[in-house]
Amino acid sequence: MSDASGSARTDADLAREVAWAGRILAMGGHGDYTLGHVSARSADGRHVLMKPNGLGLEEVTPGDILTLDFAGARVAGTGRIHLEAVLHTAVYMARPDVGAVVHTHPPYTTAFGATDAKLELLNHDAVLFRDGLATFDETAELIVSPEQGAAVATALGDKRAVVMRGHGVLVTGATVPWAVYAALTLERVIRIQAIACSLGALRPMTPEMADRVYPDKYRDDHVTAYWDYLIRQVRRAGLADGMPDAAETERDRAHAGAV
Ligand SMILES: [Zn+2]
Repeated sequence: MSDASGSARTDADLAREVAWAGRILAMGGHGDYTLGHVSARSADGRHVLMKPNGLGLEEVTPGDILTLDFAGARVAGTGRIHLEAVLHTAVYMARPDVGAVVHTHPPYTTAFGATDAKLELLNHDAVLFRDGLATFDETAELIVSPEQGAAVATALGDKRAVVMRGHGVLVTGATVPWAVYAALTLERVIRIQAIACSLGALRPMTPEMADRVYPDKYRDDHVTAYWDYLIRQVRRAGLADGMPDAAETERDRAHAGAV
């Protein structure tokens, strides 16, 4: 992956990002009761900052975010740990380039994972996944053991996302905004492909065209602007309870530099 790692963030910055991420993903159709989780690699690189169990994606506040070690044990925070925390720890251990992980059960991507369809390069969105998607099909069970977590990380390989057959998807990013953007974009890609399939024979772009589209379409400054937009959208949707207000967010941004 070529995403830049972004400016340095404190764990407090990252906890806020994880909380915003849940709300953005819920708004984007990734919610499934209290299931699904988002995490970030901590500032020191040695811990995981993760959504707790028992809350919906859009309910999590920065104060709810748990700090876990790479064995999945609690370091800080009081909420319940998701059984599938091993999904996150295994990916962080296997992929030093990954700074954030999203695991959700969005309808289009989950349906896609239950077929033999392959992702086609139908529009700009799909170009984000021009290197293809990984598939994990060893089991449809919850991923609760370190061995299962490692198997998902192995299936992910060096890809941006792994579709988990009969279950959902795991999407990575160098930063929380990148992981969220990729998760939202993947669901949109599959949705567009599902619509296109109902209209006629697919006419995907060539890999060469995808390579030409990519550099101007997928840039850190675009993702920064999208992230700010998505937070404004969450506020307008009334889903910002318990989050810093707009003035506070602006101060944090100025302090942290670009997102
Ligand atoms: Zn799951």
